[in-house]
Amino acid sequence: MKRRKFIKNTSLTGIGLAFGASALNCKQNKNEKQQPMTLTKDTLPKAICTWGFVKANAKAGAELTKGTNALDAAIAGVEVEEENLKNTTVGKGGAPDREGNVTLDACVMDSNGDCGAVVCVENITNVAALAKKVMEDTPHVMLAGEGAEEFAYSQGFKRENLLTDNSKKAWEEWKKSPKYKPIINIENHDTIGMLCIDKDGDIAGACTSSGLSYKMKGRVGDSPIIGSGLFIDNEIGGAVATGMGEEVMKTVGSFLIVELMRNGMSPQEACEEAVNRIVSKNDSYKDFQIAYIAINKSGEVGAYCIHKGFTYMKYEADKNENVAVDYFNKA
Ligand code: ASP
Repeated sequence: MKRRKFIKNTSLTGIGLAFGASALNCKQNKNEKQQPMTLTKDTLPKAICTWGFVKANAKAGAELTKGTNALDAAIAGVEVEEENLKNTTVGKGGAPDREGNVTLDACVMDSNGDCGAVVCVENITNVAALAKKVMEDTPHVMLAGEGAEEFAYSQGFKRENLLTDNSKKAWEEWKKSPKYKPIINIENHDTIGMLCIDKDGDIAGACTSSGLSYKMKGRVGDSPIIGSGLFIDNEIGGAVATGMGEEVMKTVGSFLIVELMRNGMSPQEACEEAVNRIVSKNDSYKDFQIAYIAINKSGEVGAYCIHKGFTYMKYEADKNENVAVDYFNKA
């Protein structure tokens, strides 16, 4: 869809458009004339991320405020959780698979539409930064397992044992009666997905996870899959997912949200529709959580999830707040 039509549609759906002295200029398609902007300087920069990751979002906000571009700010933000040993679903300290291996998944996408991903990586903490390296320094988009790990060492990443004593103890406890049943909002849903808009109005994002706790060996979720766990279109906006990755992948959730926004939905409407696509086809939704957050080019934010309990962080105008999210299952 052309920018002109998008702007028309968004104004129809009630997204406030800012025209005025403080308006910034967006990048234009080559064939299009300059159009008025949808962002005002005083709404920039912005960072949002899944769950209550206060420090991670504050870090991204601080980076953006000092002028760091959207992608590097998002990576710096999610690194806070990758390095947080207490977080058992991201980075070092993440829960292992059934056999005791911690395997990490991550992807990044920038405002040019470039992206990189790594899946099932062991012994490397900062996998979002590694995904950026894949994007920039290889001819590929995605590297898996040993190949990704070897590439990491060639780029100077450190080898680290990701299985902490606490995660090991919890896994040993789990093995005593190993049932694979997700517990909504508790052990399976703390992937950090982050979306940033920098001072230039450019959008980028990062998503990083150790995936589902005690997953099968080799299992990869939605988090490193461009279009499922994360999608950015700098002309339109971005979206990220957390929760049961298998269900997010079946509906290519983040891409869907960006396309719905392209067709005129607000971020909130688009997140709700993406959740509806899942629950309408799937009676078992009562047993798993999925949550989406999204931002559009005018800086409007939306979020929606299946079950109560999901929150997101929003950094805006030097304020970093935790926002409760509306949910589908009111039964
Ligand atoms: N989406 C992640 C996955 O399926 C899990 C999560 O968000 O907690 O791997």
